[in-house]
Amino acid sequence: MDESVYDKNRELQRKLDHFIKQARANEKKQELYETFGFEIIGASNPRQLRDLLLSRSVARFQLLDMVLCLVDHQKDADRLFFEHDEEARLDSANKLLILDAIKDIDLIQSLTVIPLLGIEALTRYRWMINDLKCRDQIKSAAYFPLLRSNQVIGAMMLLSQDPHRYQKGIGTLFLQKLSAMTAVAIENCLNQQRIKEISYQDVLTQAYNRRYFDLRFKDEIARCVRWDDDLICMFLDVDHFKKVNDNYGHQTGDSVLRHMVNLIKEQVRSCDIVARYGGEEFVVALPSTTLHAAHEIAERLRKAIYSSAIILHDKQLNVSVSIGMASLRDLSISLQHDADFICTALLDRADKALYEAKEGGRNQVAVYTNPML
Ligand code: GH3
Ligand code: MG
Ligand code: MG
Repeated sequence: MDESVYDKNRELQRKLDHFIKQARANEKKQELYETFGFEIIGASNPRQLRDLLLSRSVARFQLLDMVLCLVDHQKDADRLFFEHDEEARLDSANKLLILDAIKDIDLIQSLTVIPLLGIEALTRYRWMINDLKCRDQIKSAAYFPLLRSNQVIGAMMLLSQDPHRYQKGIGTLFLQKLSAMTAVAIENCLNQQRIKEISYQDVLTQAYNRRYFDLRFKDEIARCVRWDDDLICMFLDVDHFKKVNDNYGHQTGDSVLRHMVNLIKEQVRSCDIVARYGGEEFVVALPSTTLHAAHEIAERLRKAIYSSAIILHDKQLNVSVSIGMASLRDLSISLQHDADFICTALLDRADKALYEAKEGGRNQVAVYTNPML
């Protein structure tokens, strides 16, 4: 064969091999991005989504780090992502930037709808990376807006130690798909959580409802058993509430119930669970609390309710509550039982104590005592 034809063939073969290699690499990349995309779309709660987007993505895509920023129109993003997880809030403080739709308007307006790569992304969005520990190692960056219905709902910044990784001119199709999926995942996940929260809330008082209490209470029981911590269950029942309705009307009765929830929330910690269990009956779970401390809280609460008048147009109204409580430690049943069983036993005993408080004359606190002891 002619030498030049032979060379051409070799050259073509080399190019073909190169294209095949590139196609395979792209296929792998596509699979990696798609798998991650499906995972974030399938996240079942904001905590899981947060973990995927902020931590797992870094390992999965071999990034130096990743920063997300979100426009918080409903003023609930921080709570939805970090409620009951102070440690994560601190850990993610520089990686998940929650922008106030009004106060941070300048930053929000600086979020462009087109992706930016390399030095442009780094200089324009320096504020996104300024507080990162690894900021001195950042050598290239990719900025992608998070868009929903043509509106910027946030942005993501992928950071690399490799100066060539994110440069002008590189193909961005995978990253565009990823940012589109991220926007959908965030919006869906937060909306689902909002719907869940509405279904866990008592409409009248905005306290949690019984359904939520039963779920969370079991979790807290399991956690306290695992850590050998005590947990207190407290029932509060408004005394002679029927008379309030009879004498002042149902609307006033409703205001009393709302007032009650505000007073209870003021006296307990944010990690305690306050729920309306039935008509004029509330339940409070105090995890990692001793019976002695809980008794003081209950007394303080009882006094606060009795001394806090509810102002009506022409008069004021004082109500009292009876409180019954029981502690996980004093249950005298094996903690090997499942959380369902322990939950029922604790509620039952707190209810018995409440009955004692009522029998004892109302406006008082009673602690369940085991008759066998
Ligand atoms: P006790 O001291 O023994 O607890 O007496 P009580 O009158 O508080 O208890 P009782 O169980 O006899 O009455 C509870 C009342 O609470 C009767 C019911 O109409 C009223 N109630 C239940 N749910 C609501 C509500 O959502 N709003 C109002 N206004 N009243 C309610
Ligand atoms: Mg009552
Ligand atoms: Mg009652």
